Amino acid sequence: MYRETIAHAHGTTEGTASEQHATMLLARAARRGYAIEVTTPGGALITWTRHVFGPGENTVVRADRSITLEPFTPVGTLSDTVRADLDLIAGDPHARYAEENGRRVIRGLVWRIPAFTTARLRARGLVVEEEGLVCLSLTAHLGLLAHAHRTRTTTPEGWRRPSAGDPYGSAGLNRPGGRAGMLYGGGSAAVCSCGGLSAFGGDRSEARRLAREHRRAVAAAFVAEQLTPPPGRDRCSCGRCADCLTA
Ligand SMILES: [Zn+2]
Repeated sequence: MYRETIAHAHGTTEGTASEQHATMLLARAARRGYAIEVTTPGGALITWTRHVFGPGENTVVRADRSITLEPFTPVGTLSDTVRADLDLIAGDPHARYAEENGRRVIRGLVWRIPAFTTARLRARGLVVEEEGLVCLSLTAHLGLLAHAHRTRTTTPEGWRRPSAGDPYGSAGLNRPGGRAGMLYGGGSAAVCSCGGLSAFGGDRSEARRLAREHRRAVAAAFVAEQLTPPPGRDRCSCGRCADCLTA
């Protein structure tokens, strides 16, 4: 379950969202091209811009909208062993519960997760049972994705003395404030723990934007590949998914 906060024209509305509802929101948001970012506790932030009529006649203004999904049970620390177990389950379409000496274990085609670990994965809400099969919960999926794409930006160099052989070594000779002869390096690199991002921004806010674009791109790809329901099952029993996204 998620706490769902919708920022709309008249303020914010709080409610709860089931995994099914949250999944539908994400799938629809991705189809509409809305920006999605996942969070390490296993939640998500959906943002988009609407063009609405402004106060005057014939004025159209941009209005920012968002939906925040915060899990009631955050995924917590995803250690190497937990991630390895979750990878096993996610990668095996036959994963299911089995009984061993009266205790529940998770079994795949060629592997099993012992009872103690199975109990912990269940208690942490990382696995769910669907139609007799064990699969990852939405919070587990989102938490893993956030863990795989931890971005950071480097501190700009700032003022420095030109090094020997610097092609711009003589730049800025007339700068005031003791900066004569010094160079300013405002550039900042954006990198991601996945290794798939190495971008450079002219300043740190540009680097942060590049990092955010990367996180949004991987989230959009994940939602399109993993969360898009088959045709005909594109419905959530709540009946208000569409409303949430047209606030
Ligand atoms: Zn990444």
